[in-house]
Amino acid sequence: MTEHKNHPTSNFLRSIIERDLAQGTYASRRWGGSPGDAAHHAKGLPDPAKIRTRFPPEPNGYLHIGHAKSICLNFGLARDYGGVCHLRFDDTNPEKEEQEYVDGIIDAVRWLGFSWQGCGGDHLYYASNYFDFMYRAAETLIEAGHAYVDEQSAEEIRASRGTLTEPGKNSPWRDRPKEESLRLFREMREGRHPDGAMVLRAKIDMASPNINLRDPVIYRIKHATHHNTGDRWCIYPMYTYAHPIEDALENITHSICTLEFEDQRPFYDWVLERLAESGLLTHPLPKQYEFARLNLTYVVLSKRKLIELVEKGYVNGWDDPRMPTLVGARRRGYTPEGFRLFAERIGVSKADSWIDYAVLEDCMRETLNESALRRIAVLDPIKLVIDNYPAGQSEECHAPNHPLRPELGQRVVPFSRELWIEREDFMETPPKGYFRLFPGNRVRLRYGYVVECTGCEKDANGNVTVVHCTYLPDTKSGTPGADAVKVKGNIHWVSAAHAHPAEVRLYDRLFRVPHPGAGDRDYLDDLNPDSVKIITAQLEPALKESRPEERFQFERHGYFIADRYDSRPGQPVFNRTTTLRDGWQK
Ligand code: ATP
Ligand code: MG
Repeated sequence: MTEHKNHPTSNFLRSIIERDLAQGTYASRRWGGSPGDAAHHAKGLPDPAKIRTRFPPEPNGYLHIGHAKSICLNFGLARDYGGVCHLRFDDTNPEKEEQEYVDGIIDAVRWLGFSWQGCGGDHLYYASNYFDFMYRAAETLIEAGHAYVDEQSAEEIRASRGTLTEPGKNSPWRDRPKEESLRLFREMREGRHPDGAMVLRAKIDMASPNINLRDPVIYRIKHATHHNTGDRWCIYPMYTYAHPIEDALENITHSICTLEFEDQRPFYDWVLERLAESGLLTHPLPKQYEFARLNLTYVVLSKRKLIELVEKGYVNGWDDPRMPTLVGARRRGYTPEGFRLFAERIGVSKADSWIDYAVLEDCMRETLNESALRRIAVLDPIKLVIDNYPAGQSEECHAPNHPLRPELGQRVVPFSRELWIEREDFMETPPKGYFRLFPGNRVRLRYGYVVECTGCEKDANGNVTVVHCTYLPDTKSGTPGADAVKVKGNIHWVSAAHAHPAEVRLYDRLFRVPHPGAGDRDYLDDLNPDSVKIITAQLEPALKESRPEERFQFERHGYFIADRYDSRPGQPVFNRTTTLRDGWQK
């Protein structure tokens, strides 16, 4: 299959990396074979990875399309510049994390086509393995006069933080002796104080114009069991303190995050500089860079909303094909190649913007158009009887598996007297410009014969039940002179005697407006009431043995995938990935 090898478009991150490589910014780093402090890495060899990036999900939910952007970016940059990207579970918060999510994230990153192996290691890490170092680093900060234990309540700390226009007020505990802070911090760790009794704060500047530098909290007491470290700890580091340390221990060079962390960058640097001064870490230190997160129309990407959709039963789980999760997208039939193409196409910038969902769908169509074999399915069947074709007889027609790739061969499509066609391909009294079946008109049955419509049968309510026609024996596709009879319409069909009935799920967008919940609306009111329709379609025989996750283009209808969970041998169930064209453009 041809990969979409668009030359990677340059962007500000690529420029920074290329400059760093040219200047040898990170050339002196050593790698101790595993994450660790300065002494550990000093014993290692020169780092075989030219750059190190990381993707650091919190294992508290399933990954979504926004995460795919971050994954493609971080793993893609590492791949392109001779580096490696670490998969790091940011599991420093004891309460919300679960193994199910860890497994789901590993699957999703692999499915997208990326690997954390390379440059002499298997770089899958857990931030909770760094708790010992983080604790030691905190004691070092206290000893150097850069941190203190504050006994104010959370409310008092908030109230004394100040505002954008007013400086904060120093805590009454700010200038306590460091020996006292050290003693109390050890007591915190030993479990001698209840949750909320005191915290450890960095001692920076309560008048800083950047509120994030007004003595941020770096450790809190939380008597909670952690999925990895059990009950070993009852104090846990805050994310803004833990994250730069995680990056430094792993020798990360370029730490790429979303824009909302921009104001945290000075604290990121402050933590690392203080620990380098004390000798726990060494230069060159990791640097943080921010990019605009993905905002996509017609979906919601907030974890809280995704959880609500699942828990309140608006969808059938995290992997419902309508969900913007990667498990959902996979089940829907979206392709890893399509996501990589999407990430490349939308690029990265420092300005927030919205991407139209149609851009993502087009990327899927482009990759599917190249890879998906063509098949025939009649989704809304009505019988077509060819009155001059002998009953009980059948013959073979040949249809290419892919119109642009003859090397993929052909398959046999059986033809007989009674066929299924689409209900909409017949009209008793057609409007102007309708070229399909109506009494007296001729169309080509694709890969078969030209037929002339002779009439129809109706039930008591006037609904058409059967369409009749006669065929022109000398017009079979692929035989000499087949084109002598010119027709404007060309319709698909399956032989009724050979067709395989199957469940097909016609998915559409989950929300009917570009910005669900915009303004004062409840986003749940914006759900599309027609986001799924389940039908029984008539499939050509070649589709009967489809394997789970096999993808096809159903001619004239769109792209479909055999559902990975509900398909059985000889009885596939199909999900519609996307129609052939966007039906949402106005
Ligand atoms: P939470 O609200 O729970 O923090 P999150 O979506 O930020 O949720 P994380 O597990 O922290 O989830 O995200 C992992 C990585 O994915 C982070 O580095 C984050 O910057 C990135 N990421 C999350 N959402 C998006 C998005 N919409 N576009 C690009 N990157 C994203
Ligand atoms: Mg986050």
